[in-house]
Amino acid sequence: MAIQRTFSIIKPDATERNLTGAVNAVIEKAGLRIIGQRRIKMTREQAERFYDVHKERPFFGELVDFMTSGPVVVQVLEGENAVKAYRDVMGATNPTEAADGTIRKLFAKSIGENSVHGSDSEENAAIEIAQFFSLADIVG
Ligand code: UDP
Repeated sequence: MAIQRTFSIIKPDATERNLTGAVNAVIEKAGLRIIGQRRIKMTREQAERFYDVHKERPFFGELVDFMTSGPVVVQVLEGENAVKAYRDVMGATNPTEAADGTIRKLFAKSIGENSVHGSDSEENAAIEIAQFFSLADIVG
């Protein structure tokens, strides 16, 4: 299996509850390496651009409000088949449907405040990483 990179965000509901380390422990236990990490406060422009694919959805405004409501931790993760491996360990979007042991089952508060983001394809991972990281800040 190929070594891949994916993009992750630890969302404001998780940073607010001081869960960055707990989320990172699940990520590392799943065999993924955190090769870039930065704590930021997203601007509305950044959040709107990041979630542009959802701009027609009814939850878009709430999603942008939430993602700009507090600090987030943006990350680059590396490992075998990293895009799928991270989606698997994140769990389903709605925590009530997430499998036991997944980050969302363990920590998410609701379908909106669901603790983490992970890229859904290798192509989107590259686009999302480039939105938040320069090459010098990724050390594999
Ligand atoms: N979201 C929401 N309400 C919904 C569906 C999604 O607030 O009914 C939010 C949620 O934070 C989710 C994000 O929008 O993580 C992006 O949705 P997507 O369907 O891409 O889910 P994901 O890839 O994050 O599992």
